[in-house]
Amino acid sequence: MITDEQLLRYSRHILLDEIDIAGQESILNGRILVIGAGGLAHPALTYLISSGVQQLTIIDDDQIELSNLARQFWFNKHDIGRKKVSVLSQRLQNLNPAAQIQPIVAKADLTLLQQQVPWADVVLDCTDNYASRSLINQVCFQHRKVLVSASALIFSGQLAVFDFRQGQGPCYQCLFNGKVSDQDASCAKNGVYSPLLGIMGSAQANEALQILVGIHDQQGYLHCFDARHFQWQKFQLNANPSCSVCSKTALPTE
Ligand SMILES: [Zn+2]
Repeated sequence: MITDEQLLRYSRHILLDEIDIAGQESILNGRILVIGAGGLAHPALTYLISSGVQQLTIIDDDQIELSNLARQFWFNKHDIGRKKVSVLSQRLQNLNPAAQIQPIVAKADLTLLQQQVPWADVVLDCTDNYASRSLINQVCFQHRKVLVSASALIFSGQLAVFDFRQGQGPCYQCLFNGKVSDQDASCAKNGVYSPLLGIMGSAQANEALQILVGIHDQQGYLHCFDARHFQWQKFQLNANPSCSVCSKTALPTE
């Protein structure tokens, strides 16, 4: 049951026909797993928690560095050297004392993902490398979860939602078909435009909230954003019949 305080706090959402009280209750009861506590996670978590998501787990093992401060706006100079996930959880807690935020200081390896993914309604991939994205995709497919994946590099952002609840692709692996041209590309090496992280992380929150409400309709699309010229492009994704993760011939993952 929604309380009087919640009715007021989330009144602007409740006024929207697409959300209403039932949708806001779904947001309040939603469980979200966020992997990564960097530039995408900051805006994504800020909007999720402000919007009323109360059950969150965040996984990351990085320490805060001076070069993070240009994008990761919840951190300041005094936090340098501390674990990102610990500081971020504390700061986000102030946004909504009712939120139950579980920080996990660890690398999101296969064992940890196998433990944490089954709990979540929606998984947000806010990592910055192909190996992590590929592993998260594999475990989300195995447990039939909804995965909201995003990336940002130089002036280019990508966003895709993979809804595995029916046990079907397409999946992140189909998208790259094992060939990753930017495997070695990273923000540390190639650079990244700061507001791009804000746009792509907010877009992840946009997708996740609509999934919780039950009005999401962007499954199976890849959205590409060019921040330099402010252009969005949308591509339909098809499952790769020989995908090593989601095809019928794929071996089960353990
Ligand atoms: Zn696939």
